[in-house]
Amino acid sequence: MNKVLKRPDLGSAAVAASQVKPSRAEAEEAVRTLIRWAGDDPDREGLVGTPDRVVRSYEEFFAGYAEDPREILARTFEETDGYDEMVVLRDIRLESYCEHHIVPIIGKAHVGYLPAHRVVGISKLARIVEAYAKRLQIQEKMTAQIANCIQEVLEPRGVAVVIEAAHQCMTTRGIRKPGVAMVTSRMLGSFRDDPSTRREFLAMIGKNGAGGYA
Ligand SMILES: [Zn+2]
Repeated sequence: MNKVLKRPDLGSAAVAASQVKPSRAEAEEAVRTLIRWAGDDPDREGLVGTPDRVVRSYEEFFAGYAEDPREILARTFEETDGYDEMVVLRDIRLESYCEHHIVPIIGKAHVGYLPAHRVVGISKLARIVEAYAKRLQIQEKMTAQIANCIQEVLEPRGVAVVIEAAHQCMTTRGIRKPGVAMVTSRMLGSFRDDPSTRREFLAMIGKNGAGGYA
C-alpha cells in the first residue's frame, strides 16, 4: 500500500508531490481539517478517534488500488471440455466511490462472457468487479474497465458488463433524487455483434427487453 507512484517519463527525483503517498499522520490531519470545515471540533471526545477510523476505512474503500485485475484473471482453466456456452455471474454486489464527490455508488454488476478456449473461476469475476470498484470511479469508466480487462486477459468470444447503481451524490445532495439507478453497459465481441447473444444475456440477468441499453 505504500508504493510511490512515479511517472515513467520523469526521473525518480522529479516525482510530483501530489503523486507521493502521504503518511498516515498526514491523512489523519486532513480528516481533522474536514471535520473543522464541517463545523465541529475534532478534539471533542466523540471525534478524537475519528481521523484514525476514517483513514482505516479508506484502506478498505480504496483497496482496489493495491490489486492488479489482470493478475486476478491470470489463472485460467484451459480444460473446458468443449464448454462454449455463456457464463454469467449476476447480481454482484458493487460498492464504489464517485470520483467527483467521494461518496458511495451502491448497486450491482452483471458480468457475462462467451469462452473461446479459457474459462476462469467465477469468484474471479466478482474480484475483478471489486478491484475496479474499490477506487475513485465514474460508473461509465468502471463498466468499460471491467469488460476490457476480461476481454484482454481471457480473450473470449465476447464480454458483457451491465452495472446498475445508485449514486449517493445524487440521492443525498445536489438534486436529491432517491431511488434513481444509473445503468451502464459495455458489450464486446459477439455480445455487441449478435443481437440474439445480447438478448440471451439480458434475459439471464432479468433485463429482458427492459431498459434502454438492450
Ligand atoms: Zn458524484
